Amino acid sequence: MKTAEEYVASLRKMKWRAYFFGQRIENPVDFEIIKPSQNSVALTYRLAHDPKYSDLMTATSHLTGNRINRFTHVPQNSEDLVKKVKMLRLLGQKTGSCFQRCAGLDALITLSSVTYDLDKKNGTEYRTRFDRFLAYVQNQDLVCNAAMTDVKGDRSLKPSQQADPDLYLRIIERRGDGIVVRGAKAHQTGALNSHEIVVMPTLTMNEDEKDYAVSFAIPSDSNGIIHFIGRQANDTRKLEGGVVDVGNPNYGVAGHEALVVFDDVFVPLDRVFMCGEYELTGTLIERFTSYHRQNYGGCKVGVGDVLIGSASTIAEYNGIERSSHIRDKITEMVHLNETMYACGLACSYEGTKLPSGDYIVNPLLANVTKQNVTRFPFEMARLAIDIAGGAVGTLPSERDFRNPETAKYLEKYLKAKAEVRTEDRIRMLRLIENMVLGVGMVEAMHGAGSPQAQRVMILRQADVETKKKLSQLLAGVKASPKSNS
Ligand code: SF4
Ligand code: FE
Repeated sequence: MKTAEEYVASLRKMKWRAYFFGQRIENPVDFEIIKPSQNSVALTYRLAHDPKYSDLMTATSHLTGNRINRFTHVPQNSEDLVKKVKMLRLLGQKTGSCFQRCAGLDALITLSSVTYDLDKKNGTEYRTRFDRFLAYVQNQDLVCNAAMTDVKGDRSLKPSQQADPDLYLRIIERRGDGIVVRGAKAHQTGALNSHEIVVMPTLTMNEDEKDYAVSFAIPSDSNGIIHFIGRQANDTRKLEGGVVDVGNPNYGVAGHEALVVFDDVFVPLDRVFMCGEYELTGTLIERFTSYHRQNYGGCKVGVGDVLIGSASTIAEYNGIERSSHIRDKITEMVHLNETMYACGLACSYEGTKLPSGDYIVNPLLANVTKQNVTRFPFEMARLAIDIAGGAVGTLPSERDFRNPETAKYLEKYLKAKAEVRTEDRIRMLRLIENMVLGVGMVEAMHGAGSPQAQRVMILRQADVETKKKLSQLLAGVKASPKSNS
């Protein structure tokens, strides 16, 4: 397993083509906009070497028997699924942010069983190829970036009906030694903290969309790959050299997100895991989204712990911690947070074994988990802002606090309890601002799929017919209006 320092050193060797704010990023590894998110990923390495956390942070590879970072491990039983959620909560607590390594893990987990199913169906050799790649990722302890969401063009049209066929990533050439792909993947969290990109289709594909039914892995600095780093609220605060206004100076608001363009990229055959087998695209998506939706019952709960902690601390600083309505609001925040966690654990405990031997979470409960995460963090944010007061949105900048001409006024008038340093109060307020108004909330809503995507899955998985029968039996009515049974 790599250490955090070895991880950062390995990033220095990458030769990305990346842009931000109209300019090519010459040195992404030391770039202030990227650095906090890189620190979050680095923590997934650091904690794996801490004996206190080794049970959660490491696992035994089912391929090699080696001790590996759990972020590269394919769950082999429901205990592994549970440990995954607990690991993510731990990291959410330590970073207060998104640590970006999970979607790539979910891509690996998904492809492990999907390549098995593909081979069983078609007599192909995808699983052998995939296992070789997985062993490489485990042995090198790499970060993978899961590339699923296409840019999608006209949302009312299918991939094959788009005016521009490249709006969904597709194979443009099949060669003896590999394939050439073109397209773009959006919202790629932690793109420049990742060694590899693992590409998967974003939709269930049909027979006329075989070129879009493609999955593969490619180093993220390969020829033809271009990264465009997106803007986040308050991002330029990171360039100001201060530490207070950024709210969470070490780990930032969330990951960084990139639009990743594949400009005719060659992928060698041994890294291709699906090539035209459209029949299994639906299964792939269902599995990936279930695994990824499970995660949010861990990582967002860890961030929720930090939010509860900061709301309680600011209440103390302001001298209102004993007030009954404050205690009630904190109680409500805890209730919401633990409800999300309970769902994440439940879908893991209810996990089942797939034919490949890998374990999958209960898909219905995983979708319920994520659906709750599109709501509860917003209610928690509302409560945190309520407790913290208007200062969350009106504080003067760190520069005014550092300015000798104005410092004494701000020091004096922004003080709360006499024994609390004004700067400590400001720091806590900035941390709250960072969590409730930052991109993390957008991620809670849209990460791992927008709310409607879960609702479709929830109804599909709910088995309403069985529930109807239960009620009909008790009421003594016929099974359905048209049948006589
Ligand atoms: Fe991991 Fe959560 Fe970030 Fe997704 S949002 S990558 S699950 S930390
Ligand atoms: Fe995400």
